[in-house]
Amino acid sequence: MQHTSKFFQTVCALSVICLTLLVSSPLALLAFSDSASPIPVSGPPNDPEGPEDPDPDPELVPVPENKYTIPNNAIDAYYMNENPDNPAIPSKPVYDVFTVEERQARGLVLEVPKVSPYYGQKVVYLTFDDGPEPENTPAVLAILKSQGIKATFFVVGNQIEKYPAILRQIYQDGHAIGNHSYNHVYRELYQSTNNYFSQLRHTDEIIKNSIGVRPRISRAPGGSAGSFTKEYWATLKNLGYTEVGWNISSGDASSAKAGQLVNNIAAQMDNKNLWSHAILLMHDGRGHAETVKALPAIIKFYKDRQFEFRVVNFETPSPW
Ligand SMILES: [Zn+2]
Repeated sequence: MQHTSKFFQTVCALSVICLTLLVSSPLALLAFSDSASPIPVSGPPNDPEGPEDPDPDPELVPVPENKYTIPNNAIDAYYMNENPDNPAIPSKPVYDVFTVEERQARGLVLEVPKVSPYYGQKVVYLTFDDGPEPENTPAVLAILKSQGIKATFFVVGNQIEKYPAILRQIYQDGHAIGNHSYNHVYRELYQSTNNYFSQLRHTDEIIKNSIGVRPRISRAPGGSAGSFTKEYWATLKNLGYTEVGWNISSGDASSAKAGQLVNNIAAQMDNKNLWSHAILLMHDGRGHAETVKALPAIIKFYKDRQFEFRVVNFETPSPW
């Protein structure tokens, strides 16, 4: 018995020594670090000149696993990363630091965190589809900025390829961004789920190449009604996208003039059931100058009635 106890004591003592060494070693500190960026190699505290060797051997400075990564150009948004303890999502745009492929390769979850839908007294989500476009999108952005309002842009992949700087502006201004397919061609998109989701993935990559993150919200061109089968909805869920429809249409897909667009919206807002979550469909794509013209009056309509302007995220209720 005594031998066993002595042996046990020795093992314990050795364990404590090993643990102490491990915890105090710089490598262990790196391993426990939450920081996404490489640990800077600094000189001793009393050395204001910093490191002697400005270009240390990268093999000696291991970069920690990017557990809580956020991009360098981060804005005030909610970033999905590797953190399994997703905090509650406040009223912010939501972005993912990984593409679907990157999540799958890392064995990370694709599911959307469960949050309660937000219903306010008077809430409106301004949404703009089919951009970025070189005339209308910057004009919309300028109006939103001058009014201090954040909105949501459902963007098209082949437009981003042409105007990546405008997408970056949307992002940097703090608006939400959603995936609106690569080419917006209905007969291709709705031929098969494979076609549809290859376009979504492709557009995600284009967006990520431009702003460093990708959206987790999407809007089916022309709307999901009549185009989405059960298989589309199942695949959408499996890949972690949240589909966002609308319940108020500005009617700007027609040749209506600005004044008519405002009237269209005002008429639909008579339905008080929508006040808690009015999701307004507009377009900033080519040929939508009337929408830009109407926008100040549309914003005034909602401001006069004390509506709260929010961006679409996981808290946004289903439109109907
Ligand atoms: Zn569209």
